[in-house]
Amino acid sequence: MPSLFDFCVLGNGPLGAAAAWQLAREGASVCLIGARHDERVSSHNDHSRIYRTRHPDPYWTALAEANLPMMLELEQRTGIRFFRSTPVYYDGIGNVPLSDQPYLTRNGLNHQDPCGGIIDPLAYIRALNKAAREQGAIIRSTVVTSIHTLTCSHQVHTVDGNVARCKAIADFRGLYAKPIGQGTTVARTTLLIRHPPFHEPHCFIRTVLLDPQVGEFFACSHLDEDSSTQTSKFVLADAQPHLLNSSETLQAWFQDGYRHHPKLPWALDEIRRMGFEIQDLRLAPCAFTKTYDGRPKVQVDQSHLRFYGCNGGAVKCAQSLSRQVLTQGLMQAISTS
Ligand SMILES: Cc1cc2nc3c(=O)[nH]c(=O)nc-3n(C[C@H](O)[C@H](O)[C@H](O)COP(=O)(O)OP(=O)(O)OC[C@H]3O[C@@H](n4cnc5c(N)ncnc54)[C@H](O)[C@@H]3O)c2cc1C
Repeated sequence: MPSLFDFCVLGNGPLGAAAAWQLAREGASVCLIGARHDERVSSHNDHSRIYRTRHPDPYWTALAEANLPMMLELEQRTGIRFFRSTPVYYDGIGNVPLSDQPYLTRNGLNHQDPCGGIIDPLAYIRALNKAAREQGAIIRSTVVTSIHTLTCSHQVHTVDGNVARCKAIADFRGLYAKPIGQGTTVARTTLLIRHPPFHEPHCFIRTVLLDPQVGEFFACSHLDEDSSTQTSKFVLADAQPHLLNSSETLQAWFQDGYRHHPKLPWALDEIRRMGFEIQDLRLAPCAFTKTYDGRPKVQVDQSHLRFYGCNGGAVKCAQSLSRQVLTQGLMQAISTS
C-alpha cells in the first residue's frame, strides 16, 4: 500500500465509487474511504432508482444518455447486474403513445420514456468497487472524522484511528460534502409497499396532481423473488419541500422524523386510489441536496475537490457525472494555480 496516495476519494456512494474507479483506471493510486450504511446517512439508501432520459433540464438528459453505455459495459466487465430496462411512464411532454393500460391511463400517465429502467444503487456501487479494486484501488469502510491540509499533501483521519495521506482529495460525501450555506437539504419519505402483482415491473412519474402541495409523485415497481408479490417504492415530492438545515435536523429526520411526513395520509389514499392493495407498508428516510439552479456544483481549494448538489437525480448518471466533475475540477485547479 502506498504511503502517499495520489487521491483519497471520500464517500462510497454512486458518485464516489464511480470517481474512484475512473481515477484508478487512469493510473492514479487511489484510496476510497466510505462509511457503511448504518454509520452515515446517504441519498441512495435503498434498492431502486429510476433511470430516465426524459428530463425538463437537458443537462440531466445528456448525462443520463451518456451513462447508459457505461453502465452496460460495467455490468459486462464485473458480471454484476444492477440495471434493468423497464418502461418509465410519465405525464409530461413526449411523443411515444402508451398502449391502453387501465390504471396508467386512469392516472393520466400518457407518455413513455423508451430508454427507461430501474437501477439498484447498492449493486451499482458493488460493481464500481469491484472494477476499482481490479485497477488497484484500496477501499476502506470507515468514517472520515477530519482532514488536515499540509503544504503539499492532505491527511485524512478516520474513526478507526487510521490516517491516509494523499496529494489530492475528491470529496463525494453527498449530504455532508455541501459547504455551509450552499444549497438546501430536502427531506423525503419513501413508502415501500408490498402488494399482489398486477402488472409488469415499471416506473412512473406524475407531475399533474390534484393536491397543489405535492409537486411530484413517482414509483419504481418490481416483482419480488417469488413473484407472488410485488414491491413498489413510492416517493412524494412536496411542492413546498421539507428542508433540513443542520446536521442535527438531518440526523433527526433519518432517525424518526420521516415517519411523520405531513403528506403520508395523502400518499396512502392516492396509492389505494390507483388500485394498489397494500399488504405491507414500510417507511424509509431519504434526503438530497438541492442547488438554486438544479445543477450540481464543484469547488476546488488547495487540491481538495468538493462535489455537492445531486438534486435528486444522479444515480442514473453516476459515471458520466463523476467524469465531468473530475474534468471540471482539474480545469478549476489549473486555472487557480
Ligand atoms: C427519495 C429520493 C429518490 C431519488 N430518486 C432518484 C431516481 O429515481 N433516480 C436517480 O438517478 N436518482 C435519484 N435520487 C438521487 C440519488 O439518490 C442521488 O443523486 C445520489 O445518491 C447521489 O450520490 P452521491 O454519491 O453524491 O451521494 P450519496 O448517495 O449520499 O453517497 C454519499 C456517501 O458518502 C458517505 N459519507 C458521508 N459522510 C461520510 C464520512 N464522514 N466518512 C465516510 N463516508 C461518508 C455516505 O455514507 C454515503 O455512502 C433520489 C434521491 C432521493 C432522496
